[in-house]
Amino acid sequence: MIQPDRPPENEYPHLRRPGSIQPHGLLLAIAEPNYIIQYISKNTQDFLGIDSDDLLGQSISALLDNSQQTLLQQTANKPTGASMVLPLSLQTPSGKQEFDAIAHRTSEAIVVELELKKTEIEENLPDFSAWVRDILANLQLSSTLREFFEVVAKEVRNIIQFDRVMVYQFDRQGAGEVVAEAKNKTLSTSYLGLHYPATDIPVASREMYLQSRLRWIPDLTAPSVELIAIDNTNTHALDLSFSLLRSVDSCCIEYHQNMGAKALLVIPLMKEGKLWGLISCHHQTAKYLSYSLRVVCELLGQFISLELANKIKQEELDYKLKLRSHHSQLLKTIATQKNLKTALLHPDPRFLKLVNATGMAIYLNEEIALLGNTPSREKIYTLIEWLDSQGNESLFQTDSLVRDYPSGEAIADMASGVFLLRISQIRRYYLLWFRPEVIQTVTWAGNPQASIQIDEDDRMILSPRSSFEQWQETMRFTAKPWLPSEIENAIEFRNALIGLVLDRADELARLNQELERSNRELASFAFAASHDLKEPLRGIHNYSTFLLEDYADVLDETGIERLEVLVRLTQRMESLIDILLNYSRLGQTELNLEAIDLKTLLEQVIHVFRASNPNSSIEIRLLEPLPSVCCDPVLINEVFGNLIANAFKYNDKPEAWVEIGCASPDEHGIQAPAMTVLYIRDNGIGIRERHRETIFRLFKRLHAKNKYGGGIGAGLAIVKKIVERHGGQIWCESTYGEETTFYFTLMRHQSSITEN
Ligand code: ADP
Repeated sequence: MIQPDRPPENEYPHLRRPGSIQPHGLLLAIAEPNYIIQYISKNTQDFLGIDSDDLLGQSISALLDNSQQTLLQQTANKPTGASMVLPLSLQTPSGKQEFDAIAHRTSEAIVVELELKKTEIEENLPDFSAWVRDILANLQLSSTLREFFEVVAKEVRNIIQFDRVMVYQFDRQGAGEVVAEAKNKTLSTSYLGLHYPATDIPVASREMYLQSRLRWIPDLTAPSVELIAIDNTNTHALDLSFSLLRSVDSCCIEYHQNMGAKALLVIPLMKEGKLWGLISCHHQTAKYLSYSLRVVCELLGQFISLELANKIKQEELDYKLKLRSHHSQLLKTIATQKNLKTALLHPDPRFLKLVNATGMAIYLNEEIALLGNTPSREKIYTLIEWLDSQGNESLFQTDSLVRDYPSGEAIADMASGVFLLRISQIRRYYLLWFRPEVIQTVTWAGNPQASIQIDEDDRMILSPRSSFEQWQETMRFTAKPWLPSEIENAIEFRNALIGLVLDRADELARLNQELERSNRELASFAFAASHDLKEPLRGIHNYSTFLLEDYADVLDETGIERLEVLVRLTQRMESLIDILLNYSRLGQTELNLEAIDLKTLLEQVIHVFRASNPNSSIEIRLLEPLPSVCCDPVLINEVFGNLIANAFKYNDKPEAWVEIGCASPDEHGIQAPAMTVLYIRDNGIGIRERHRETIFRLFKRLHAKNKYGGGIGAGLAIVKKIVERHGGQIWCESTYGEETTFYFTLMRHQSSITEN
């Protein structure tokens, strides 16, 4: 069976056409249409007391009567390989003997194999139908695939009473693994978990397992019996692919003998028309099984194959559901977190379970978070560089990184399997899962003392240990492959994650809209309220003034004083309402945007300022060049007017100055190239850090009403509102006691953008 130095398959036609059979039966091949015996095994004397030479070239009628011949002729109409059984009673030197004649056709002949009926074995067998029924029920009851295999091994051993029954599973490359074992307690070595390379079972043998449903070798040590053929035809011409008695390849004998077996029964397991695995049964001594018992095993094999497909499907479905449940639980956890990026950079351990990985890296534009067993950050960065150089497909996966990336050798123990998912094509946001080399995770404890041995001809001596070591060799740098269900789960998770981001963006847009609407409503409410308040207020003011003018003589001093306070309060209230009105109007009125040369505008503002503050000695510096901006000139005039007035008011220096100019957007982290940053700096009293935000609130003053020329605390609120209506932003920097700078951004006029 195993053959590390086996030549290529096509050089071994003898596997199918060995020209010999096992000695526990006899074989003859007859040609149509005259049913002449073309080939016959040399052991007819042992069974029938007739020399093979005497039967060769004879008609089959020499052995079979008319009714038996008619039965045999039915085989002629069957497809190649399909067999039928004829119970035969033949005269032998020891009297009449009962035989099972199993006949099948090949492309060139009808092959008939005769086996003596072992009546003593048959008699000891229990009621087949009840037996099979119980076995099938047990098999169906098993809930997991592993349990199913264990029941298979146990039940098959119960039927055939072999020392050891193993279930082999093949992987995609054809390498095998013992996934279940039932054995006689006296056998010390267990083969459970043993892996062996694909080469252990040659392709031709696999093909024959596909075609035949059972392979039985009752005695591996029994010498084979040669065939003879008429006209000196080469006996290797006869195709014995479907023969039950076909002799055994010497490698197969050697392999099984090294495993301590003398008798062998192999039941192929099929899934979707392909060889999925084998049930391999070993017995330490020769073991004969009746034909009917073998038919039961054959049927059982077919049932197990059918049930196997169901169980695998069920197991796959269960696994898929399990993955799916990790996926939804994880997503639920992430969805509750405020910041997705933080959630990803502090990954939940369930990320590993999404694809059943042992390690993971979450990479978000240079930032990286690691989970489980992973290579070092540096190694991962280099790997990501390489992955990026391979293209930017959203998915990359391999079960052997080294195949394409030689430096992967150094990280094979953690990352032989790599699965990359790109979350975003624009940003470098990646999920990267790892799996270790398979051989890191598989150990087989069997027969550890016996290592590979070499015989005198320098051939490797075949043994499970050497197979295991060879298998390990073929699996170097290879991880367990990523299953379609795992890949699918990860993709769905990625999509859900993107969905979550989009949902958040939608939610944000909705909130913004809502906010904008309520802002608008509030502004129009403030506008209407302040407008409507003005009229009764004016009434109160006017009536108080009339009272003062017309009834001063009837009022005492306190009365007059109180009326005077009332008049002052109404005046103050009116100016507050005016400001409120002005402020709310700002949010309502359309902007009259124009291209404005800031230098000209500022010269006018300064001119007006000088005219209304004739005693001010403050030095006003304009730092050129100043750009053209796109703005509503009346409103921007108000902005500069307010800021210059503040610079003048809040200044206690003997040589007060104010400087107006243009700042570098980069220095202030302003990314938008269409914006310009303007500043107004003064050497005044400065603003403490804790007030630098609050000064922009309506009616917020830092000083007593009468200090620094008084103020109502609305100027900066209005300035901010105007700047924001222009799509800009405003902020303040200051060194308390020394200077203050107000910065704000405005949209450049197009031509001035291109000029610069
Ligand atoms: P006000 O009408 O009181 O000047 P503002 O809204 O213009 O109201 O300013 C709010 C507060 O910010 C002022 O009361 C003042 O304390 C402070 N402030 C404004 N500009 C300056 C400045 N250039 N230097 C120092 N403090 C200032």
